[in-house]
Amino acid sequence: MVCFNVSQLLLMGPGAVREFDFLEDFPDPAHELHLEGPIEGHARLTRTREGIFAHSDYHASVKLECARCLEEAIEEVEGELDEEFLPTTDIHTGLPIKLPAGADDEPLIDEHHEIDLDEILRQNILTNLPLQPLCEAACAGLCATCGERLGPRHPDHPEVQEEEAAPKSPFAQLAVLLHADEER
Ligand SMILES: [Zn+2]
Ligand SMILES: [Zn+2]
Repeated sequence: MVCFNVSQLLLMGPGAVREFDFLEDFPDPAHELHLEGPIEGHARLTRTREGIFAHSDYHASVKLECARCLEEAIEEVEGELDEEFLPTTDIHTGLPIKLPAGADDEPLIDEHHEIDLDEILRQNILTNLPLQPLCEAACAGLCATCGERLGPRHPDHPEVQEEEAAPKSPFAQLAVLLHADEER
């Protein structure tokens, strides 16, 4: 959970700033984020006239499937977000605050004066997941002949090489000769 209590900040005037570093295990009940370890980041919270403006950047490792060879691909996801949170409870009186018209979709500071970045972070991570994860930049993918991953441990297939060296039909042979003739 990436969550901050902003009661001190709410008591200060507009422009006041609080900064936090975070390193948190992140909830992923739907298993859609593929996080590998905690999420790490920095949040800068600024008191505005209406509420709290949150800027945050973060990075996290995700474990995905390589788009070429289907093996495990660990990728680094980075992102940042900017969001203004509106108070629901008056910091001085403890009374509920009526939200301004049209503010229904705004993120809110809850009745304990806490802001919760989880949902905003979750959506941000989802949009920043790589579309073509690779186990390594030079991944050669899978062999068309045997289906195994290409690389140093992949064996040669001599029968395929022989086929390529000798054309299959006499006509193919002829075509090669004709072509050579034209080039002379
Ligand atoms: Zn790969
Ligand atoms: Zn192969």
